[in-house]
Amino acid sequence: MNAPANIPRPVGLLAELTHRCPLGCPYCSNPLELESRAEELDTATWQRVFSEAAELGIIHIHLSGGEPASRRDLVEIVAHCAKAGLYTNLITSGIGLNEERVAELSRARLDHVQLSIQDSEAESADRIAGYEGAYARKRDVARSVTEAGLPLTVNAVIHRANVARAGAMVKLAIELGAKRVEIAHTQYYGWAKTNRAALLPSRADAERAIAEVEALREEHKGVIVIDHVIPDYHAHYPKACMGGWARRTLNVTPTGKVLPCHAAETIPGLEFWSVREHALADIWYASPAFQAFRGTDWMVEPCRSCPRKEIDFGGCRCQAMAITGDARNADPVCHLSPHHYRVEAIVSENTAKAAPDYVYRRMQRAPAVV
Ligand code: SF4
Ligand code: SF4
Repeated sequence: MNAPANIPRPVGLLAELTHRCPLGCPYCSNPLELESRAEELDTATWQRVFSEAAELGIIHIHLSGGEPASRRDLVEIVAHCAKAGLYTNLITSGIGLNEERVAELSRARLDHVQLSIQDSEAESADRIAGYEGAYARKRDVARSVTEAGLPLTVNAVIHRANVARAGAMVKLAIELGAKRVEIAHTQYYGWAKTNRAALLPSRADAERAIAEVEALREEHKGVIVIDHVIPDYHAHYPKACMGGWARRTLNVTPTGKVLPCHAAETIPGLEFWSVREHALADIWYASPAFQAFRGTDWMVEPCRSCPRKEIDFGGCRCQAMAITGDARNADPVCHLSPHHYRVEAIVSENTAKAAPDYVYRRMQRAPAVV
């Protein structure tokens, strides 16, 4: 189809190659209903999607999951993206990679590795991941990545169990040879919403962590770049979620559904098209889910007449849905939202109590055949 002049081209595509993952992070952004291996797109279909992405003008492919290294065809997929002129970023837990596989990926012209680390202390990191020995294996993978000459980013999700070590994670990233570290306070979607009471830090702890990381930014200028995603439950204004709905990026799930953001399926009534039946360009320009909240015409007050509406696009639709019951509302983390008191109540209720046990993210096993 011809590209409508009023719709910008996307720049990035997040490919959830699989929902399989050996870890069980309680803040995982994957949906509660994980898609099974049997339904995953095959190699040829992913390759077609990446070719279509390049034609559509996409520059960055984020190979994610689940754990993308669970796919046996990962090297083939990377090689195909490189041939199509796409920049590839592997978002990985490291489990499923070793020196040999990292070297193969490097030969296939992988551009970048983003490695998640759950904590700077081994015992706590393994408990958060729900996987004994994960921390030690991640350190080995980090070494393999830097030895292969691949640029490394460390990703650390911050929550109640590790908020006191946000600064220590920056220092660990430097020690591992990363040139960039993402310190991202938990976003409460997917499994993180289920585990919100266990994960939410107090406002005082979150503020201490933010100040510590900002001080390290100055101290380590020129050594490491710090991307700092601050906790939106404690913010004044919301973030421009995904840079605005259907403005810059799209997500493809393991079975081929194309979403404007990873949590979009939590909004009832949206119709998602699949790459099995539609070309990626048709989905970007015309699918009902992408059209639903594109631009600003769908907005209600206070966003509709707000001078910030082209800056944050009203924040996150999924958070508006989850907390106010209507996806068109302003993201309630915004202090101008009439529902903002609900966010304040969630923070004070959850941080006043002792943290409950985690509900670990696990694939549902198929029922036994009897
Ligand atoms: S957040 Fe944890 S459980 Fe979820 S995909 Fe990443 S490593 Fe796996
Ligand atoms: S009212 Fe809406 S557009 Fe204005 S700052 Fe809040 S969320 Fe953003």
